[in-house]
Amino acid sequence: MAGQVPSLAPTATQRVALLYERLAAAAPPPALRRDVPLDRCTSFQIGGIADLLLDPPSLDVLASALAAARELEVPVTCLGGGTNVLVSDAGVRGLVVRLGKAFEFIRWTDLDHATAEVEVGAATRFIRLAKDSVARGFQGLEFAAGIPGSVGGAAQMNAGAFGGELSQCLKSLLLVTARGEIVEKSREELQFSYRKLALEAGDMIACLRFRLTRSSVGRLQQEVARVQDKRRRNQPVGYPNAGSIFKNPPGEYAGRLIEKAGLKGRTEGGAQVSPEHANFIVNLGSATARDVRNLMSLVQEEVWSRCGVWLEPEVRFIGEWDEAEAAGS
Ligand SMILES: Cc1cc2nc3c(=O)[nH]c(=O)nc-3n(C[C@H](O)[C@H](O)[C@H](O)COP(=O)(O)OP(=O)(O)OC[C@H]3O[C@@H](n4cnc5c(N)ncnc54)[C@H](O)[C@@H]3O)c2cc1C
Repeated sequence: MAGQVPSLAPTATQRVALLYERLAAAAPPPALRRDVPLDRCTSFQIGGIADLLLDPPSLDVLASALAAARELEVPVTCLGGGTNVLVSDAGVRGLVVRLGKAFEFIRWTDLDHATAEVEVGAATRFIRLAKDSVARGFQGLEFAAGIPGSVGGAAQMNAGAFGGELSQCLKSLLLVTARGEIVEKSREELQFSYRKLALEAGDMIACLRFRLTRSSVGRLQQEVARVQDKRRRNQPVGYPNAGSIFKNPPGEYAGRLIEKAGLKGRTEGGAQVSPEHANFIVNLGSATARDVRNLMSLVQEEVWSRCGVWLEPEVRFIGEWDEAEAAGS
């Protein structure tokens, strides 16, 4: 329009390009990549493109990347193993951080004959940690044998099964804040609840410390076998999924309510309520995030009208969703 002064502020796309330039020296490709499809990074095998995907080669690079993103006002999203997320078809604007090799480690310290502490990088697979602690005869993480994803993601979700939860044996977390500060928080300073750890927006978990007690390897192996057998009998295999799609309402099972509402096997596009376990939605092969989201809304409405319970999603929605979608989350 005539007479209008053009804005000199960089656009979102320009800010992303500036961030790429800032980070490229400390994190050269493939640590930092542009326009990365995220369907390969999620267990659902669904998801659009991330503007930038960073696998930080060190804690310092992670800290400086978060600080630079904040300074340039580029949004940051953290992705772990991608086993409890639904990434939108439109993808994720800004920077996606996915911790990799530099954050995969397990370091044991025997405190005495009865206890040990273990320091674990956030990208370490939760299953690997559970197996390692059982093999060493340390008790507390047997429930995790069979929970896919990273230990960092498991902390954020307070992952649990069969009466166990990550928070029960956690001692402390090493966090990188959105400002790029590195801070340690003890278990007492953290607020865990059912499938949730309350962190400040933008905080990223880099490392975790657990305290475990000694037990007999044979007894622990038996417990793991019991847990794995239960999983094999109850969970769908074969199709990509993200585990339990809804949280269990107090005193109830989401799966039982969905089954009661007659929704087992219901489809929307390529997404289906698993005929084996009603609280799992599976990707039959061509599901979009939109299909899964539509099916979730349908399940919420049907369960509400038949059982009077509104199911809350357990899966986290990541990326760009339109307003109607966001309101339903
Ligand atoms: C077959 C199957 C079975 C499952 N069974 C169980 C089960 O029994 N119990 C259970 O609790 N869950 C279960 N899940 C869900 C999932 O495996 C867990 O929630 C898991 O702990 C998520 O870890 P992730 O690394 O995949 O996190 P993601 O799915 O990548 O992320 C989950 C959330 O954590 C955040 N996040 C990830 N990493 C970090 C980090 N380093 N710092 C800060 N935030 C982070 C993400 O931003 C996102 O909000 C299952 C999933 C599948 C596919």
